[in-house]
Parts: sequence; structure tokens; C-alpha cells
Amino acid sequence: MSELLVNSEKGHLSASQRIPQIARPFVSERAAKTLDLVEKFVEEECIPHDEVYIRQIGETTQQRFTSHPSVIEDLKKKAKALGLWNMFLPKNHFKEGAGFSNLEYGLMAEYLGKSRTASEATNCAAPDTGNMEVLAKYGTDAQKKRWLEPLLEGKIRSAFLMTEPQVASSDATNIEMTITRDGDSYVLNGSKWWSSGIGDPRCEIFIVLGKTDPNNANKYAQQSVVLVPHNTPGITIHRMLGVFGYDDAPHGHGHVSFTNVRVPASNLVLGEGDGFKIIQGRLGPGRIHHAMRSIGAAEKALEWFLARINDPRKKPFGEMLHKHGIMLDRVARSRIEIDAARLAVLNAAITIDASDAKGALKEIAEVKVLVPQMNLDVIDRAIQAYGGAGVSQDTPLAAMYANGRTMRIVDGPDEVHLLQLGKNENKRGKAHKSRIEAQRKKGHELCQKYGIEPKDPLYLGRSTGEGKSKL
Ligand SMILES: Cc1cc2nc3c(=O)[nH]c(=O)nc-3n(C[C@H](O)[C@H](O)[C@H](O)COP(=O)(O)OP(=O)(O)OC[C@H]3O[C@@H](n4cnc5c(N)ncnc54)[C@H](O)[C@@H]3O)c2cc1C
Repeated sequence: MSELLVNSEKGHLSASQRIPQIARPFVSERAAKTLDLVEKFVEEECIPHDEVYIRQIGETTQQRFTSHPSVIEDLKKKAKALGLWNMFLPKNHFKEGAGFSNLEYGLMAEYLGKSRTASEATNCAAPDTGNMEVLAKYGTDAQKKRWLEPLLEGKIRSAFLMTEPQVASSDATNIEMTITRDGDSYVLNGSKWWSSGIGDPRCEIFIVLGKTDPNNANKYAQQSVVLVPHNTPGITIHRMLGVFGYDDAPHGHGHVSFTNVRVPASNLVLGEGDGFKIIQGRLGPGRIHHAMRSIGAAEKALEWFLARINDPRKKPFGEMLHKHGIMLDRVARSRIEIDAARLAVLNAAITIDASDAKGALKEIAEVKVLVPQMNLDVIDRAIQAYGGAGVSQDTPLAAMYANGRTMRIVDGPDEVHLLQLGKNENKRGKAHKSRIEAQRKKGHELCQKYGIEPKDPLYLGRSTGEGKSKL
């Protein structure tokens, strides 16, 4: 038994043994075996290699966004040899993936979320995952050959450019980048930011949302998506954006401008005016991927929390931290919240498997709001247990917190999902009002039938002064 796998007082309880009961009937034998391999690969290989990866990125901004840590290629070779590759593409919608369902991948992605390198090592890293889904779903044969194939092989990386600095981009109808037809070409002008992955020198293809028909009366038909090769003249990456001071190198998040960027008309994805449809399609399963990985991040935070409260060197007020009741209360809360959130994620995954992302809008939105907050709460408790060390570079917790916090914003802020959920729930309001009234009316009628006077059981009718009660 490898000490890198020990996870309980009895030694190692494998990932497949820990699949929630409710999900077991949906997991094939092959997926259960692969899940155990993913766990082993992450715990024994990726997490220990994370440190090497961080060191190999370099120090200066120039170095950090031109380097390609060689350790990632070593891990990719190992992952491929183990068959841990492209597990994210669900089998009922894509033929190109490893043949697992969203639910099965959800269980695996949890482990990927525990390591900095694991997602990329298995070719399951955002934003490539969502971008590959777009190309697989909507790309022409030529687009697939040129961009999807090398992405599926992990030879290149990609970016998705929607958000713009000058407009509220959570409402994509505000996007201003122009995509103008000119003969056999489209010409792009405008600015983008938070273009994740664009700092990586291997990022060769940008999937760009802009407007081909800004005056269309239907504001959802104004947008289109085009594929822009990274070396097209007219693109400037001005700077990289920090996340609470972390640069997320080497992929990073770029602030980019496009000046008369010309691409062949054949680089249009689907048709003119289909941009909204494509981004809606892209954001479904991808949103769940973040949530799946966040479950793993929360598990990792709880593991660090448990390690800290059992550290015999640290005894505030004469006792190890686990002897202080409040810490066990926080451990228990974290356990409950992670387990509940995992069930919500798996439920969303099963619902997507049963239909598609459109058929699981409610479940996806629930998870998008619930999981990031749970993850932050769990990480926050772990940070607190470490005191000063918790906010420093001596634990992974501070970086995990920064990353976890962005999940309340990326792919649409919480409020957008809450509003949508609230609106949909509220559609049932009238029905509930009339049903409640009907039930009360029937209750009164039944009281009469049984000869019971329909009065308030707490009615008192006592006069405390002169005269009679007016009620
Ligand atoms: C780390 C990171 C990575 C990202 N990667 C990418 C990427 O790869 N590609 C890309 O295109 N974008 C990316 N983004 C951008 C992200 O998708 C946007 O930041 C997000 O959609 C919000 O858009 P905005 O920043 O323009 O905020 P705005 O749209 O200006 O919204 C600001 C705030 O307004 C509030 N708000 C918005 N709508 C409502 C509402 N209906 N009701 C009440 N309040 C509301 C919310 O509090 C929201 O946070 C990334 C962002 C981060 C932080």
C-alpha cells in the first residue's frame, strides 16, 4: 500500500468504494476501474508533481508566459498510457471522447480538481474542454481536422473570447466586437478581456464571439462565432490580468485587442446569427465541470484542515486543535456540505445524461450557485485552522480560495442563475395560490360536514376591560 494513497484510519478506501450509493447503478464497471486509476494517478503522480510544475513556470512575467513546464508533457504521456485521456466528452453526445457519461466523468473530475496539473495532464482542462465541445458539436469537417484533432491529441491549446472590458458581459447581448463580412473574409475589430488560456504559447486557436448583424431587431440573432488563429495579424495581447494577485501562468487571462483582424469566411462556426446558440451550448456541461472539480478542491481543503488539527506541534492553549470542540463542529459542517453538494452535482450530471444540457437547466443553475459557495466555506474553515500559514504560500489553501472565488463570477455570475431559477420557480406561484385556496375552502366545507364550527382554535374572545371584544 502506497503511503501516497492512505486516506482513512484503515489505509486506503478506493474512489470506487466511495461512490455515493445513489449513483452506483449509473456507473459501469469500466468507469469504476478508471475512477480508481484517476485517483491513483492524481494522488501519486499529479499532486507531487504540482510543485515541480509551479517551479518550472519561471519568475518574470515574460518567462512565465512563454514557458511550457516540461513536467506536464511527462504527465500527459503517463496519463495517455493509462487510458486517462479526454474523459470529459460524454458518450451519448460525442463519439470522440473516452466513452464515459457525464456522471462517470463527474466522479473522476472530482479528483482532477485536487491538483494543479491533473486536468491538463488528462486533456480535460478548461477552456479546451468547452472549446472542443463547440468544435465537435458545431464545427465543419475542415474545422475539426484543423483544430479539433490537435486539441483532442493535446498538441495545442485554445481560448474562448467573449467578455469585453467596456460592457456588462454577463448579458452577452451587450457584446460589441464587430465581425464584418468583406468578400471571402470576416474582419474583426474590438477588445476582449479575461481571455483565459491566451498567455500559453501553445494556445493556437481563439473562439471569438462578436456581432455580424448589430442592427438585427432580434437581439439574440446579432451574434456569431468565428475561429481566429493566434498568429493572425492585428491581434495584440496588451497585458495579463491577475486573480487576487495570482497570474495563473502559463495560461493566464489576457486583455486583448483586435484591429482589422482578417480570417477566411470558412472560419465561421455554424451560421451567421448562431452565436448565442453556440455559447448557450458551450456553457452547459462546462459549468458542471467547474463544479465537479470544486468538489475535489473542497475535499482537499478538508484533508488539509484535518491534517492541521491533528498536528501535535501546534497546541493553542495546551490542546491540539481537534480537542477544541469548535473545530470538530467545522469539520462536521464541511463533511455535510461537501456530501450534499456532490449529490447535487451528480444529479445535474445524470439529468444531462438523460437528455442534454437544455433539459437540465435548473439542475445546472442550482449547482453553479451552490458548489462555489460551499467550496469557499470549506476552504475558509481550513484557512482559519492554519492561522497565518493559511493565508500564506505555505499551504495551497490561499491559491485555492482565490481560484474558488472566481467560480461565483465565471460563466455567468451567481445573480444571473439565481434570477433565472427564481423566475422559473415563481411561475408556479399562481398554481400554488389557487391550490392552497381550494384546499382551505374544502377544509371549511369538511368542517361543516362534520359539524365542526370553522373557527380559529386559538380564539379566546376574553374581554379585559369594559365592553365586548369587537373581533
Ligand atoms: C478567472 C476568470 C476567468 C474568466 N475566463 C473567461 C474566458 O475564458 N472567456 C471569457 O469570455 N470570459 C471569461 N471570464 C469572464 C467572466 O465570464 C465574466 O467576468 C462574467 O461573465 C461577468 O461579466 P462581467 O465581468 O462583464 O461583469 P458584469 O456583467 O458587468 O456584471 C457585474 C456584476 O453585476 C451583477 N449582475 C450581473 N447581472 C445581474 C443580474 N441579472 N441581477 C443582479 N445582478 C447582476 C453581478 O454581481 C455581477 O458580478 C473570466 C472571468 C474570470 C474572473
